[in-house]
Amino acid sequence: MPRANANGAVVTRFAPSPTGHLHAGGARTALFNWALARSQPGGRFLLRMEDTDRARSQAALAESILADLRWLGLDWDGEPVFQSARTPHYQRAIAELLAADLAYPAFETPGELDAMRGKAREHSPGGGFSYHRPPNWDRAAALAKAEAGAPHVIRLHLAAVLALCGAEREIFAVEDQVLGTVEFAADALDDFVLQRQDGGVTYHLAVVVDDDAQGVTHVLRGQEHLANTPRHQALQRALNLPRPHYAHLPVIQNPDGSKMSKRDREKGIAVDIEDFRRQGVLPEVLLNFLALLGYSPGEKLPDGRDLERFNREHLLRHFSLARVGRGNARFDRSKLAAFNQDSIAALPPAEFKAHWTTWCNRYAEDAWSAQAQKMGEARRALFLQALQPRSKSLADLTALDGPGAFALLKTHEFAYDEKAVSKWLRRGEPSGLERLRELRPLLAELAHFDPESIEAAVAGFCEARGIGLGKAAQPLRVAVTGGASSPPLGITLAILGQTETTARLDRCLAEIGGAQNSARKDSA
Ligand code: GLU
Repeated sequence: MPRANANGAVVTRFAPSPTGHLHAGGARTALFNWALARSQPGGRFLLRMEDTDRARSQAALAESILADLRWLGLDWDGEPVFQSARTPHYQRAIAELLAADLAYPAFETPGELDAMRGKAREHSPGGGFSYHRPPNWDRAAALAKAEAGAPHVIRLHLAAVLALCGAEREIFAVEDQVLGTVEFAADALDDFVLQRQDGGVTYHLAVVVDDDAQGVTHVLRGQEHLANTPRHQALQRALNLPRPHYAHLPVIQNPDGSKMSKRDREKGIAVDIEDFRRQGVLPEVLLNFLALLGYSPGEKLPDGRDLERFNREHLLRHFSLARVGRGNARFDRSKLAAFNQDSIAALPPAEFKAHWTTWCNRYAEDAWSAQAQKMGEARRALFLQALQPRSKSLADLTALDGPGAFALLKTHEFAYDEKAVSKWLRRGEPSGLERLRELRPLLAELAHFDPESIEAAVAGFCEARGIGLGKAAQPLRVAVTGGASSPPLGITLAILGQTETTARLDRCLAEIGGAQNSARKDSA
């Protein structure tokens, strides 16, 4: 019988193993469980740390998973449950199964098991090895031997569990809320291990006991767990527990079709939530993007395209398992970057500033961010105003190759783009350099060095000479940024400030003007 709460409310859980940081796949699982619970009246979303692997689990990793969930805005109900604190519950379940002869001690050493596997392979090459209790097994002797302290594991007695069922389908058919009915072959299970030799219980035993203890009604997890579900159904039958609904979520693939995995991280590709945070992705953008890894709102935009951009409220209003697909989901990083850029540009300026400041406080380990932070209130406001529509990410503002680099490099640190120099400074009669010589005193003596005053002064200069604005603005841009594209001229110069602008004009006139002078002399 599938589990339903008395009040019909949905209870979901996210059950990460704190053996690594929260990665995109885990976050997607958390998000779907959260969305299902939060989209239902009275729904609850619970957390469980599956830290039974004592050697690999770390408290700091559990903490970082919680921090990343908070950052994504995935709030949970109650306190997280730690499996390491629940040993007595698992032992009780094991004792119950042993007493009913639904589980039993097995004494093979790892070496003996290897030999059994080898024999099975010889018998049917390619076929798997299944462990089943021999028919002539002496229960009393085995229990006594275990009691006396002989090393052993505890295995499920599958044949006995199947004998309890009306039909084997009860165990071997998974009624999946996303995939439909998935049938497993009757040889898909054997007498799998419930308790290891060291007394620790396996994932399968713990997950079934805990899903019941936490009153979980819906288990949403990655498709890699689908083959585990018959095991869990067998244990639910053995322990006489109600069965939650299962929904297995699509596999997440890289654009080249390979399965996205933690190993991608070794190639320098962002996989962990922390990687995306560091890259300067907004949390609501990542949430939107993760939601699309399997879910689609099924709405069309006026131009006929699928609606893909939505916020948390929209997701909660519309989320349902019926809208989760079966096919593999593509992790399209260019789509994430485009979402992020658009969302950054659309933020109210105060929110943009808040997001950026938070990002700097966490990741500003280099002098660049510190410099941007030190700019002073007025210039920083201009810097943010100019950079917001030009930034692909929060990190872009202080990136060495980003649109804000011109403001963070020192007078002599930036390089001149050769093409821009020859087009805007060397060519023409009078040349851009000559215009710069005239503009320098005008800008150096400007009483107010704000964007409007600068624009007005440069416009007046051009008007007086009957030339287009570009003839002055482009040489100035190249002189102070090194290249021909930057935010609007007035704001670009105001961000630098009057002293720095003048210093950069002097550098340009000396370096490029000087080179030109000597080149002319050489050719004369
Ligand atoms: N600890 C398991 C994992 O991280 C949880 C699997 C489940 O949801 O049952 O994959």
